[in-house]
Amino acid sequence: MNMSQPRQAEDTIVKAERIPTTFIEVDKPSVTEASQLERNVKDKRKNRHFQLQKGLYQRWRTTINALVIMVFLLLPFVKYQGQQAILFDLSQQQFRFFGVTLWPQDFTLMAWVFIIAAFLLFLATVIWGRVWCGYLCPQTSFCFSFVWVEQQIEGNRNKRHALDKAPWTLNKLIKRIAKHSIWGLMSLVTGCGFIAYFVPATSLYMDIFTLNASGLVTAWVWFFAVCTYLNAGFMREKMCLHCCPYARFQSAMFDSNTITVTYDTKRGESRGPRKRKQPTSLGDCVDCNLCVDVCPTGIDIRNGLQYECINCGACVDACNQTMIKFGYQPNLIGYFSENKLLGKRSGGVKSWKFVGYAAGVLAMVLVFTLDAFSKTDIELNVLRDRQHLYREVSEYRIENTYTLVIRNKTQQDKQYFIYLDKENGLEINRDINVEVVVKAGELLIYPVTLFHTRSGNEMDKLKRMSVMFNVTNVDEPRDSVAQQSQFFTL
Ligand code: SF4
Ligand code: SF4
Repeated sequence: MNMSQPRQAEDTIVKAERIPTTFIEVDKPSVTEASQLERNVKDKRKNRHFQLQKGLYQRWRTTINALVIMVFLLLPFVKYQGQQAILFDLSQQQFRFFGVTLWPQDFTLMAWVFIIAAFLLFLATVIWGRVWCGYLCPQTSFCFSFVWVEQQIEGNRNKRHALDKAPWTLNKLIKRIAKHSIWGLMSLVTGCGFIAYFVPATSLYMDIFTLNASGLVTAWVWFFAVCTYLNAGFMREKMCLHCCPYARFQSAMFDSNTITVTYDTKRGESRGPRKRKQPTSLGDCVDCNLCVDVCPTGIDIRNGLQYECINCGACVDACNQTMIKFGYQPNLIGYFSENKLLGKRSGGVKSWKFVGYAAGVLAMVLVFTLDAFSKTDIELNVLRDRQHLYREVSEYRIENTYTLVIRNKTQQDKQYFIYLDKENGLEINRDINVEVVVKAGELLIYPVTLFHTRSGNEMDKLKRMSVMFNVTNVDEPRDSVAQQSQFFTL
């Protein structure tokens, strides 16, 4: 042991002498400084209020957010053919969508819809970055609407911070009660909005607010209401930062043509305060910090692209306001692609990622279309009698029994024609060429017995034959299903 230590040291020196080494002074915080910085950022974010900004992008965002919330709340009230147009009827295990009823066996269609939506989101991300997060995500819409209520009652960002620190007075109590009451009401309406997709919407709101809803429905409404209240009132950006998986992997879809909210460092630096119209050698950033004050996730976009940025454009509007005040060109912070900032040409086929996602969307839309067109509104199952393969009624007469299970998958009563395709000399003891009425969404259990009468030595030759059962909609003959089964003899 003692011998090996000097030898090891010697080896190290020899290796070091052979490898040319340049020592670089790295100006980075030590581990303790870095964790202290991180702690400071977290402390700043704790109970942090942001200022609602006005401007072009915020007008777009609020309009789109309002539309998202309105569509979400009003869609369950839309009627189609006298029924709720969109309804996940869990008790009947069916999903109704504008006259189309999907049963559990049709859920591949739903799966395709979700897969197409996901790929469209990826495609949109390649082009416009996190446009979904900033403009369309319900999380953003609800959080901004809660903050809007807060700002109307408690005032701007500074007043809200001051109110947090102020001692409890009657004024503070009234403001807090008003804010939380409105938040509570908004949350309860949102909870009803969710559940209205699962139970008839027209009676739900009245039942909830008059305490006449069933225990189960009430529990679910309150569950979603409490989630909304905690999420939009308190969690807010923490959901985007710590819970949303999309925030973590969206940068994998970015390329140099992706448009994201970016600070033009070349133009802005070196930053520094100055008076209006004062000649200066500084960059255009006047270090007013407005872009940070209005940021819902509390980041400083001047530090570069960060996963916390939801592309909401609030900092763009805030900075443009400052640029106009100082007489500078707008868009020091703007929606830019990396190529645009570098002065490179962008356009045409954007990138292979873009081509790949676009091809994926097209392929999946094609598969979905084929799947949708092959869907029928009748479901047929032919069940053979499992206990008796056949029954010998007389020496030359054999019978097989079947049960036809026919489901009408539509929301209207339908008249169906049941018939056998190839009769092969079979007799039918029950009317099989018959019309039956199956009620909307219901199952018809229809037992059928087939006979075969044989002559001479046919008995030895014939062991089994195929039979094809058909069910056709009388009013729409294209709506038809068939299922093959077997007829067994001795
Ligand atoms: S950096 Fe700008 S665009 Fe990104 S989240 Fe903050 S305010 Fe919105
Ligand atoms: S708003 Fe614009 S000028 Fe003000 S600190 Fe941010 S980047 Fe600089």
